[in-house]
Amino acid sequence: MTRMVRATRVWGNRCVWMPVLSAAVVVLCFTTGLLAQEPPDSARDSELDLPRVHVLATGGTISNTEGDRLTGEELVRGLPEAGPLARYTVEQFSNVASGAITLDQWIRMASRIHELFAGDDPPVGIIVTHGTDTMEETAYFLDLTLAWCRPVVVTGAMRRASMAGADGPANLLNSIRLALHGEAGRLGAVVLMNDEIFPAREVVKVHTSRMNAFEAPGVGPVGVADPDSVVLSRHVGVRECGAAAFDLQGIDELPRVEIIHAHLGADGALIRAAVEAGARGIVLASVGRGGSTPDQFAALREAREAGVVVVRSSRTGAGRVPVGSGARDELAGAILGAGDLTPPKARILLMLALTLTSDPDELRDLFLRH
Ligand code: ASP
Repeated sequence: MTRMVRATRVWGNRCVWMPVLSAAVVVLCFTTGLLAQEPPDSARDSELDLPRVHVLATGGTISNTEGDRLTGEELVRGLPEAGPLARYTVEQFSNVASGAITLDQWIRMASRIHELFAGDDPPVGIIVTHGTDTMEETAYFLDLTLAWCRPVVVTGAMRRASMAGADGPANLLNSIRLALHGEAGRLGAVVLMNDEIFPAREVVKVHTSRMNAFEAPGVGPVGVADPDSVVLSRHVGVRECGAAAFDLQGIDELPRVEIIHAHLGADGALIRAAVEAGARGIVLASVGRGGSTPDQFAALREAREAGVVVVRSSRTGAGRVPVGSGARDELAGAILGAGDLTPPKARILLMLALTLTSDPDELRDLFLRH
């Protein structure tokens, strides 16, 4: 459901037209922010001139209060500073913890964003409010399926809306400022948290609770939301517009791809179980630069022989597993490396890549390009 929302408390409905009230009560209403009246025509006209930002709310800590969840509409309404900047349409896509977002919802979210930008009166930008736990995954999925050079900003909060020092309002306001930045569309989908703007491909959550929980290792932020202005880095490449890296049209299901961790003493049972469960791809969160235990390696070879695509990423958190494999083993060439993609992101790329091809050379090419 999409609703037009004014980000202000002043024009609410609480004390409309109360001519009998004494001047003292009116003054009281003013000082408490409760005086409600329809905006004058001039205010309405100037409001119509404002660009429109669409907020797609999915839930997460930014919405959480003690035992309840705020709606997207309430988040925007609770941000009076946003009122003069834009008009807002708000859509409650879901209201769940981010671990509960499904692949099916990803497809619908990407299609909805496409539909909004392709419409007659497209918003200048879209903000997705989202739980932080899987925010980096949703951002990368949207980035790979985005066809428009218009900003898509994924944001959330580390502190619940009801906590002292809640960061949600600042993150949402900064996301609006970013969505209104004339050049933000060239960034692709981004994550904005704690005044910093991160590219979807590189961003990772690196802390369970701190405000500075997001980083883009080896790359850094692509911009900052400073108090005076939103500043984008000069070195960010210009994105090609008009075609998504992966077109979801006609796709209503993503192939099953599992992530399996390598660690000392791991046997191949989970890899064999993934194949048994129908996985079309397996991403190994390898030790170091592609390594696993001997039994995991044997199970990966069986998986390959059964036609399952295997990609090796690293559990280290930084550095590459060369895409062209580089692995010194008989499967080199049949097993891909994830480059510098984290295991969850390698999984997303593999799911999307498998909607196009299972050919190892074509898959390698897709991993090199994305
Ligand atoms: N559990 C929350 C979620 O990801 C955490 C957050 O939003 O920070 O939905």
